[in-house]
Amino acid sequence: MFGLLSETHAPVGHILCLGAHCDDIEIGCGGTVLKLLQARSDVRVDWVVFTSDDERAPEARAGAAAILAGAAESSVVLREFRQRYLPFVGDEVKEFFDELGASIRPDLIFTHYREDLHQDHRLLAELTYNTWRDRLVLEYEIPKWDGDLGRPNVYVRLEPEQVERKVETIWEAFASQRDKHWFTKETFLALMRLRGVECKAPSGYAEAFHCRKLVLL
Ligand SMILES: [Zn+2]
Repeated sequence: MFGLLSETHAPVGHILCLGAHCDDIEIGCGGTVLKLLQARSDVRVDWVVFTSDDERAPEARAGAAAILAGAAESSVVLREFRQRYLPFVGDEVKEFFDELGASIRPDLIFTHYREDLHQDHRLLAELTYNTWRDRLVLEYEIPKWDGDLGRPNVYVRLEPEQVERKVETIWEAFASQRDKHWFTKETFLALMRLRGVECKAPSGYAEAFHCRKLVLL
């Protein structure tokens, strides 16, 4: 396994998590961030949600706080771009990316899947690569009505405690979403279980990502 967690090989000391909507980061990479933070005690995490609002901001803060409890340092930024309209206010979103790109150089970036069929997700994925051309980027998955899951090529095997904490965090923090057809604990467990099968995870559960480019040495 590539030594992301090793002290001697490409240590991950600074992580950036980008999510279009309030619960995207927790759903896409919550277990992996938990695992990374358990592996190292000196990690900084910058967490950015693009389409928060007054109702959902407390939920987003609660979700982020639960995942980031083990971070040495963290920042949670909630922007209020219009949900479902990100590509249509793309110039403002792009300007914000320019500000982020000028201010931080993370070792590892979690962003949306570039072939995601949700327009907000896809825009963030594209702007991630525009902004950071020499950083390691992992694209996470969000299950949805469109059925756009692909064939990921990076896996993170999760411990049972990380799986449970991720699912409970999503369920408890985002109570406003519980009436949505797809928003069930089973949905989140099912995707992690399938990815666990694909990488033969000892616990049975994993998160999976798409990596377009990896500079090895
Ligand atoms: Zn989303």
